[in-house]
Amino acid sequence: MAKQENSNITLSCSDCGQEHCGRRNSFYPEFCLTTHLSQEEIDEVWALYNEPENKKMSVISAQIESDFYCRYTRVEEIVVFCHRMGYKKIGIATCGGLLYEARIFAQILRKNDLEPYGVVCKVGSFDKVDVGVPAEDAVRTGPVMCNPIMQAKILNRAETDLNVVLGLCVGHDTMFYKYAEAPCTTLITKDRALCHNPAAAIYQTQGYFRKLLERPVEDPRMQEEG
Ligand code: SF4
Repeated sequence: MAKQENSNITLSCSDCGQEHCGRRNSFYPEFCLTTHLSQEEIDEVWALYNEPENKKMSVISAQIESDFYCRYTRVEEIVVFCHRMGYKKIGIATCGGLLYEARIFAQILRKNDLEPYGVVCKVGSFDKVDVGVPAEDAVRTGPVMCNPIMQAKILNRAETDLNVVLGLCVGHDTMFYKYAEAPCTTLITKDRALCHNPAAAIYQTQGYFRKLLERPVEDPRMQEEG
């Protein structure tokens, strides 16, 4: 790993201005991850791509990108992906706050001869305090905890072919991905402040969200504990 001069910062692809790996029209920077791959890593990854499911998914993903570039919405691309992969039973891991969206998405799936199976985040109606959330932190958003492990287990039991995440919270989505056995994709990424369009914060760093580049994100709880 290359370090920036006089700094402990480790440079990686997110610091690269060339993207020679994708464009092949300039040069690889000194810290380039492509030029620092070992033959063992390359062989290991090729072996994985040569597994039938991965090979099929790689070809179909590339073809969907090519066939519908800038024309199909993500909803439409998910439907096409399901058909081309041969997926039939589609798990929907939804936030309770997006049940309307989940219902519409399920209708769209049915319209396309797919079988939606939705599980809401509050399934099981577990109490937040029982998992260790302090009672005072369960006042604003209610006593029932989001239950992504149960969502994953129910979709595992239902033997879904693909799971689609609809607006699970940060961290809850992490646990869902951790325990889901079927392949997963995301339709909606929750961002309560930006109508589920988290990229807007990035695009507005020269404008309304300039503060994100000017200072660290404040977390009063960490400051209290620190
Ligand atoms: S692999 Fe190399 S060329 Fe590609 S983005 Fe990363 S650092 Fe840049």
